[in-house]
Amino acid sequence: MKKYIALVLVLLVIIISIFFFFPTHLVAKILNQTASVFFIDSITSKDLREKYDNKKPIKILVVPGHDQTSYGTIDGNVRELDLNLELGRYLAERLKRNDKFEVILAQTEDGFRPELAEYFEQEKGLIWQFKEQKAAIMDALIGEGKINRKVVVDHISASNDTALKLYGLNHWANENKIDLVIHIHFNDYPGRRQDSIPKYAGYALYLPEQQYSNSKASWDIGRDIAKSLATEFAPSNHPQESAVLIPDQELIAIGSFNTLDGASVLVEYGYIYEPTYAPATPAVRSENLKRLAALTAYGVTNFFRD
Ligand SMILES: [Zn+2]
Repeated sequence: MKKYIALVLVLLVIIISIFFFFPTHLVAKILNQTASVFFIDSITSKDLREKYDNKKPIKILVVPGHDQTSYGTIDGNVRELDLNLELGRYLAERLKRNDKFEVILAQTEDGFRPELAEYFEQEKGLIWQFKEQKAAIMDALIGEGKINRKVVVDHISASNDTALKLYGLNHWANENKIDLVIHIHFNDYPGRRQDSIPKYAGYALYLPEQQYSNSKASWDIGRDIAKSLATEFAPSNHPQESAVLIPDQELIAIGSFNTLDGASVLVEYGYIYEPTYAPATPAVRSENLKRLAALTAYGVTNFFRD
């Protein structure tokens, strides 16, 4: 009997402390999270196309990768962030030409959109809770043997600040029912500066690994984007990217721990040091970035018109 009383007391303390330490809106939000559940599709290509045909706005979030405090890789004096921001601007403009798309550009040269910047700041607690909760579910399923951990390509771990923004973007995208998230990056590889001629060139797409709830639709969209890019650009010749479309469990951007409901595609558009990108004159570089944007938008539109 004593054991039960002790147990009840412990439980009571836990419950009271949860409500005491977390503001009520936060508790409500956590309980209300309807984010992706393993084994159930959070989004399907069929639903997306129906929505498009029924003239309901398709919400697309364009995310130029990295930010002013962590700008990604660099070549000469051109930062990856600069390429990502410029391409992001062109892509958002291109997509907006289709009035069925409601396009949100996550950041510009001036930083993240105010509503996102505020969200990262004010909802820090909620965002970490969300990540911890999703990670715990996935770990438990891996422990039970229902989900397999898969690592195809190793990535540099995101810093805490970057991780907060990326999980924040996922949570915000879930809350705002974003249909598609497109992350823009340029690639590089360790030890490149020691090579007299850099080894790799070309684009690759990272997509949610098949066990994630947003995987199938993301792959369908990714295939259409890759097909469109292939008409004018060469795919990656990196041996780990030979598939061009690469399943990934670890990248937060595409929903690690099953944290993203909407479809998501992370495009590494090419290697930063390729002559058409960082080393090119600003005018030539812009021309190439505009082509990449146009082809990406074309691929996305093709998916919806299928
Ligand atoms: Zn990057």
